[in-house]
Amino acid sequence: MSSSRRTFIKHLPFLYSLPGTLAAAPKSGLLEQRLLASFERLEIADTHEHFFDERDRISQHVDFFTFAQGYTTSDLVSAGLSAESSRLIRNEQAPEMERWQAFEKYWKYTRYTGYGQALRLAVHDLYGGKDVSASTVHEINEAIRARNKPGIYRYILRKRARIRFCVEDDSCGGCIKIGSTKENFELFVLARRFDKFIVPATLSDMKQLESATGVSITSLENLKQAAERSFEQNLAEGMSVVKIGLAYMRDLLFQEVEKADAERDFEALMRAERPAPQGFRTAFVRPFRRLEDYMFHHVMRLADAHHVPVQIHTGLFAGNGNVITNSKPTHLINTFLLYPRIQFDLFHLGIPYQEELGILAKSFPNVYADFCWAYVVSPEVSRRALAEFLESVPVNKILGFGGDYKYPELSYAHAKMARRALAQVMAVKVENGLCNEQEAFEIGRLVLYQNAARLFAWREGKAPLQK
Ligand SMILES: [Zn+2]
Repeated sequence: MSSSRRTFIKHLPFLYSLPGTLAAAPKSGLLEQRLLASFERLEIADTHEHFFDERDRISQHVDFFTFAQGYTTSDLVSAGLSAESSRLIRNEQAPEMERWQAFEKYWKYTRYTGYGQALRLAVHDLYGGKDVSASTVHEINEAIRARNKPGIYRYILRKRARIRFCVEDDSCGGCIKIGSTKENFELFVLARRFDKFIVPATLSDMKQLESATGVSITSLENLKQAAERSFEQNLAEGMSVVKIGLAYMRDLLFQEVEKADAERDFEALMRAERPAPQGFRTAFVRPFRRLEDYMFHHVMRLADAHHVPVQIHTGLFAGNGNVITNSKPTHLINTFLLYPRIQFDLFHLGIPYQEELGILAKSFPNVYADFCWAYVVSPEVSRRALAEFLESVPVNKILGFGGDYKYPELSYAHAKMARRALAQVMAVKVENGLCNEQEAFEIGRLVLYQNAARLFAWREGKAPLQK
């Protein structure tokens, strides 16, 4: 490399350090840039988010460190961040520079991961055009606070990210919930969880289900009725999708169980006669497994009867130190066979089981491979999986983007990474003769928008079914 070229690169740090920026063009550069430009013009679908209702978001204190919580913090913890430093970074009352120094100590090792890339892109593109550092964090925080006003969701999601609609998850069955308002139905499709009806483990769990549904639960039949009541309530609020997050608690193999066996578990639970396992053991020891299996199939029958698609978490978990083997997509094969009319949307590429996921989407007419969360978990794994799936899975079975964040700023960055990955992969496919440029764009439109719009029956401003 000549010294003049070295000097040139030194003066363009963002061109080379930010993941959304095109690096010096390889052979496919121009084609890739044309495809990227066409994907950037395209409005896309977002299959999975955890946003707060905008009213709740703008009432929060939000700054750079808020965006760094969650995924980025998981990478910092993996790099060595202590619990004490993690608390300091989260502490809004602590001096900004102390928070930055605690963060920076491990950020220097994590800024290159997909989570780090998304955080840098969000801050750079939306809050002042600078990389985050000790000298810029204050002005970035000021810019974030200044924009935290009504209209921020439309500005970021529609105008900047060009996202047409997002499927919104109610997190832990209501931890974060988007209201059924006219404005929200112009942007969001509602996914709701019924995990609490599937894995109750204590009398107090049952009491919570009773107060949420108004159904007195003294028998398995009552528990089923409570789940039905909740399902109907959620449909009335505009639910279009069921979300299953059970892999965070147990494996995804749900056996067909006799009702009498499930009833024995229910009775034992109500008599509080089986000690609950503690800590990580809960991921392996399930004292009421037959009840769980039975109730899972009850919820699936409800989804089947009401023609509601089902999204299922598979693969990597948020946080650190989870039991990855519980989330293998192939645990679900009996479920796909039992409910051929349900459309199953399998999340997160199933990373690290992306090959399993691809083969399931290839084999089962009712299984979709969903890239939500994937490009920030691993941009490289996502590109490889896209390249593989485009030649193994029918292109109407691939859902190419879901942000999976609490803050739209990070979903903006994630969408940019997704469009970039698809442009890179499609450019190589065109060069190799798989398809022409126009077909590559049409594939992009299916993968980034049309497949999701069809699966979730997207209609802008869709009102709740009743109300
Ligand atoms: Zn999620």
